[in-house]
Amino acid sequence: MAKFVIAGNGIIALSAALDLSKKISKTDEIIIIGPSNQLGSASLAAGAMLNSFAEVTEDELKTKESLAHFKLSQEATKKWKNFEKSICENEYSSMTNKNMSAFERSGYGKGTYVIHNSTTDDYETANYNSIKKALQEFNEPFELVKPSAIPNFQPHPQKRALEALYIKNEGWFNPRNILDNLLFVLSNNPSITFYDDTIACVKAGKNVEMLIGNSGMTYHGDSFLIATGATLSKILDNSELDSNIQQIFYGVGVSIEVRLNDGIHTKAIRTPVRGGACGTYTIPYFQNGKDKQDHVLIGASNYISTEPDYHGRLISIHHLMHSATNQINMNFNDARLVRTNVGLRPISYDGYMLVGNAKFKNMFIVSGTKRDGFHLAPVISEEITGQMVGEKSSSKFRYFHPEREPIHNLDRNRAVELIVNSLMNEQFQHEFNPSSIKMLKQIKKSYYDEIHKLHDEIGAVDWGIPLHMVNMFKRNKVEWVKNGN
Ligand SMILES: Cc1cc2nc3c(=O)[nH]c(=O)nc-3n(C[C@H](O)[C@H](O)[C@H](O)COP(=O)(O)OP(=O)(O)OC[C@H]3O[C@@H](n4cnc5c(N)ncnc54)[C@H](O)[C@@H]3O)c2cc1C
Repeated sequence: MAKFVIAGNGIIALSAALDLSKKISKTDEIIIIGPSNQLGSASLAAGAMLNSFAEVTEDELKTKESLAHFKLSQEATKKWKNFEKSICENEYSSMTNKNMSAFERSGYGKGTYVIHNSTTDDYETANYNSIKKALQEFNEPFELVKPSAIPNFQPHPQKRALEALYIKNEGWFNPRNILDNLLFVLSNNPSITFYDDTIACVKAGKNVEMLIGNSGMTYHGDSFLIATGATLSKILDNSELDSNIQQIFYGVGVSIEVRLNDGIHTKAIRTPVRGGACGTYTIPYFQNGKDKQDHVLIGASNYISTEPDYHGRLISIHHLMHSATNQINMNFNDARLVRTNVGLRPISYDGYMLVGNAKFKNMFIVSGTKRDGFHLAPVISEEITGQMVGEKSSSKFRYFHPEREPIHNLDRNRAVELIVNSLMNEQFQHEFNPSSIKMLKQIKKSYYDEIHKLHDEIGAVDWGIPLHMVNMFKRNKVEWVKNGN
């Protein structure tokens, strides 16, 4: 008889619990520890888009680590169909009607329009062109479309898109449906017990012996999975394990659920990735059993922090509303506010996920999934639960070992260029209006000088600061960069 202990109750922990429940024997036991209010859950705030191509950026497919992530994301898209079915057709599911569609069960839809407008700058154009190139190189079906033909796309005339493409196979779920369905089947499974608690630390000798909850409860077991999302570093720091696991930051992200008063959204409409965040997107947010499907999720902001922020910033809400109404549909001004979500994306120092066994034979970790963890859940859960029951780790995950040296796969000059371009792009997203080319060049130059100086200060001679970490370095918030010091 073996006991598996899972910390966390987001998409990663719950998917792993489901996979594990199929791999264990009848006498084995699984326990899941997480707060019932799911505080800070990135999964609940997510657009839950299954995007591989729509999020490609200029340098994305040039490094082996990014390419490995991209391939896993494509595999995940294929797996989601069966994975979602396996949740809803699980023996403990309440869904007895086998004829229901994934749309009815889990708010699934597909078809993503990527628009290209001129509200920002060249950085976005480069990403748009990279998406097109990747679609062609990987033979993924897509169409170039007239922006005026995109359903429910009515931007401000001055912010209209001049180009757009349609990726018919990229879709999304309603994450609340998926999480509710998962929680339902897991909590009805007699081998699984839930505890409403948060883990404070790991207690280990030769191996992990137990997890200690903030309630004072102790959770003993044989095999431990820590999948608490962005709080991983806090737990490891409290545990004083002296592990070689890079820092995980909180990528505070706001998304807004609205009910439309005018028009119906049937497809995802989004921009390419922009500086500082994933761009602007609007996704149909299908509601179970409702005749009129008029909810939309507007996303998403990203503010990287060393501390959790459960409230989000007003500027994020303002910016999301402003971008969506101007660049996607002016009728959103008349939509009704249903909910504001604040989720904490788990973002690693080097930007890549951490998946695998670490420090002790019986400790497994998943974190750092950034903006793609919902999408990747079926492949990650299959991998990590395989490892937990003694299977060998797959080479598909070889770059993502939790105890790896931080990945610095851009040289300094390219990293500086990307950082400067991304910072400039952020300014344009916030209505920056240079008075002349001379001024634009001057500002860009001052960014170049500042970012090169920052590299000098931290001794980054032949490697570049990961794009998303520049503000952390500026604020001296990076505590652990093994090969960067
Ligand atoms: C606004 C936004 C939009 C996004 N859009 C997408 C998207 O379209 N597609 C996509 O694939 N990904 C998206 N993501 C990213 C995705 O949400 C994450 O990568 C993924 O949800 C991470 O899952 P997780 O289970 O690791 O963490 P979480 O979903 O954050 O779950 C962690 C859970 O553990 C609990 N917990 C925290 N600390 C403890 C503790 N100490 N002990 C026990 N439990 C604890 C939390 O309360 C939470 O319920 C988005 C994220 C955000 C914020």
